[in-house]
Amino acid sequence: MTETQTPSRCGYVAIVGRPNVGKSTLLNHMLGQKVSITSRKPQTTRNNVQGIKTEGPNQIIFVDTPGLHQGQKKAINRYMNQAATTAIKDVDVVVFIVDRLVWTDEDEMVAQRLENLSCPIILAINKVDKVEQKESLLPHLQALGERFPTAEIIPLSALKNTNLDRLEQLLVERLPEGVHFYPDDQLTDRSSRFMAAEMVREKITRQLGDELPYQMAVEIEEFKDDGRVLHISALVLVERDGQKRILIGERGERIKQIGQQARLDMEKLFEQKVMLKLWVKVKSGWSDDSRALRSLGYDDV
Ligand code: GDP
Ligand code: MG
Repeated sequence: MTETQTPSRCGYVAIVGRPNVGKSTLLNHMLGQKVSITSRKPQTTRNNVQGIKTEGPNQIIFVDTPGLHQGQKKAINRYMNQAATTAIKDVDVVVFIVDRLVWTDEDEMVAQRLENLSCPIILAINKVDKVEQKESLLPHLQALGERFPTAEIIPLSALKNTNLDRLEQLLVERLPEGVHFYPDDQLTDRSSRFMAAEMVREKITRQLGDELPYQMAVEIEEFKDDGRVLHISALVLVERDGQKRILIGERGERIKQIGQQARLDMEKLFEQKVMLKLWVKVKSGWSDDSRALRSLGYDDV
């Protein structure tokens, strides 16, 4: 018997970058299943969501972060920055995502926070599907390479699944040897209730875009499996009457659409038939109130 077994590996990978570079998209596409919500609107992700990918001997625990951004005025912004900063402290590898050649003050802010990290960094140049002349990336790649001399740089498209297998390989090589922390079929550390609330929040964000700022939260009031159907009731909290009217739409058309789309996502995720009820309620001033945030499950504000 000369055959040696491949040792098992397991570790944490933080996905960081300013809002809207494609962190949540990358996580979902690496997993092949939606665990983190995405939209064109920045700051869609509010919490650190862990997505778990197990392939044979390797288990990667991805931590999707809300995205470090400027603006500390509101309690929820402070919370989001804190969540992103905590996520990069104790991980084995960091994936720093940037959007093609774009470099903003917020990218710079993220870069500065990464400079003193001791763990390996992989620099992912995302959205290359939108770059027509790939050579135009070269000077940018070189400058980033000088700034982060030990980092591996990889161009990719999270949306089109380009180079994601290569990224996975780079990550696995950098994981410590050890036993898996989660069962091999587990996809996320988040509860089903949390996931259900996120599905509703995603549809609202996508439907309303700029009409509704992110002063909106979703609370799951009922989550009951009767063996045949999953009964879910969700309460959508907004800050003003006007927002409530917009969200409900004429003759309730909008909220109905939101409900239908969210239900389809839930059925995919839970692999079960879902009955979803949505209510909209005005609760003024919650996005500025640490205590109210905590009661909605945004901890550590
Ligand atoms: P996050 O804020 O960093 O989590 O960004 P999201 O994952 O929510 O993505 C923000 C927007 O960029 C969404 O509209 C995505 O569809 C889009 N996006 C993400 N990755 C790619 C990509 O590789 N190519 C293109 N064209 N769009 C992308
Ligand atoms: Mg996100």
